[in-house]
Amino acid sequence: MSEPIEIVIVGGGTAGWMCASGLASLVKANICRVTLIESESIASVGVGEATLPHMKEFNDYIGINEVDMMQKTNATIKLGIEFVNWGFLGSSYIHPFGTFGEKIGGADFHQQWARVKQAGDVEPIEAFSYAIQACRKNRFEFPVDNHSEINSTYSYAYHFDAGLYAKFLRQFAEAKGLKRVEGIITDVNLHPDSGNITSVTLESGHKIVGDYFIDCSGFRSLLMGKTMQMPFEDWSQWLVCDRAFAVPSERVEILTPYTRSTAKAAGWQWRIPLQHRTGNGYVYSSQFISDDEAAHSVLKDLDAPALAEPKMLKFKAGRYKKSWHKNCIAMGLASGFLEPLESTSIYLIQVAIINLMNLFPNKNPDQALSDEFNRLVDLEYDRVRDFLILHYHLNSRDDSELWRYCRNMPVPESLQHKINVFKHRGHIDLYRYGLFAPPSWISVFLGQGLQQENVDPYAHNLSLDQIKKKLNDLSTSIKERVEIMPMHDEFLADYCPSKLG
Ligand SMILES: Cc1cc2nc3c(=O)[nH]c(=O)nc-3n(C[C@H](O)[C@H](O)[C@H](O)COP(=O)(O)OP(=O)(O)OC[C@H]3O[C@@H](n4cnc5c(N)ncnc54)[C@H](O)[C@@H]3O)c2cc1C
Repeated sequence: MSEPIEIVIVGGGTAGWMCASGLASLVKANICRVTLIESESIASVGVGEATLPHMKEFNDYIGINEVDMMQKTNATIKLGIEFVNWGFLGSSYIHPFGTFGEKIGGADFHQQWARVKQAGDVEPIEAFSYAIQACRKNRFEFPVDNHSEINSTYSYAYHFDAGLYAKFLRQFAEAKGLKRVEGIITDVNLHPDSGNITSVTLESGHKIVGDYFIDCSGFRSLLMGKTMQMPFEDWSQWLVCDRAFAVPSERVEILTPYTRSTAKAAGWQWRIPLQHRTGNGYVYSSQFISDDEAAHSVLKDLDAPALAEPKMLKFKAGRYKKSWHKNCIAMGLASGFLEPLESTSIYLIQVAIINLMNLFPNKNPDQALSDEFNRLVDLEYDRVRDFLILHYHLNSRDDSELWRYCRNMPVPESLQHKINVFKHRGHIDLYRYGLFAPPSWISVFLGQGLQQENVDPYAHNLSLDQIKKKLNDLSTSIKERVEIMPMHDEFLADYCPSKLG
């Protein structure tokens, strides 16, 4: 039997501990050994409280108990994101984790909806989303598996305390035999010929050798950025926000089962309800507002007293050209960061871990495997980038410079194409894997004011009256079913009351 591969993970934030937890099954199978190095004196970023439904799949896959995780991280449920003031001042729409209706007469639901809308009056598209109606009523229960039931048409994610989640994962991974080393890495040592990383040296002088080094060192990007000198692809001409002030506030009475993102003069403010407090942050562009004004603004817009001083974080939207180079693989903030608008970072970590597990190498780096890994990671980053830019670009706000800039900026060709085909006939590109599915695009296109000009010919298979009746039946059945769901607070108190207070 061959020797297990030595994996060294640098960093113990969400990325480091998720990766360690994901690799636990390979450790058990004696395929690799994992050592994670982190330093208590270098704080992790400490934000990252909203997730996507894929997180549940990841947790289930690695064997995390949902109740235990939710109790220990003060988690709540997330059914989507409410966008306030994005398309225009006074607007509100929800990007749900669920569908809008289903095909009628061979045409996609949004095509039938558009046909009725063009012919006169129709209920807003959100009346046909179970997840959105549950959000609007602050209700939650688990979706059912039976696809003929209306309450099977959504999925859910979590809001949790990012610091507590990393702690939780650490306990989980250590219980599975992962080795943790405390210490600050001061040097990264390269092989003089191959350029591969051979070891890292700690402040104590201790050297840790490995076959592969996974860079989870956060914005420092100690291995991929600093040591490998990987070029950074800067996307800040499209995603202009480059700073955030994060601040927790006291919990308020009703826990919303969704994140709220409110567009402001120079960016947007998040609001994430947890069981013990609310997470808030103003993500802004330093080109359009001063730091003092931004700090003042985040506090002014809290709905309960602040629990700490606002903490500033700086970032630049973009990614390193490669996430896997030689024997170094970067994950999390060490590989890139777009911005937190659609809670995609933890998802991208998860994708990187799953791809690494699927393409797990032998002792010697294999270019075919790393090329494929990079192709898959790039695809995800590019799609997320386009979706995020869409939120900024598709606006008709005229009240501040940031929104005028974003509306007029040229966007990537791939996004312009998506906008054009939706505008022309409501067409949406379908991906087999990855983010984002058609309901996500529909919610943002329509929510921010873009209507399709023509409808799919299949939408004429039924008479207008037949379609109207089907729409009416659907919205009625959603409303009736949502009314009997428990309130989100009640669900949490029953299923996973905080163990931490
Ligand atoms: C404002 C903001 C809001 C965000 N909101 C969300 C969100 O809602 N949802 C989401 O999915 N993501 C969000 N993110 C992203 C999310 O925070 C990160 O993707 C996630 O926390 C992973 O971070 P990380 O583990 O890559 O880095 P970090 O958490 O920064 O961890 C880095 C680790 O490296 C260690 N380290 C660094 N240098 C050394 C060294 N020399 N020696 C030893 N150890 C070292 C540190 O000790 C630490 O353990 C947000 C990010 C920002 C900036």
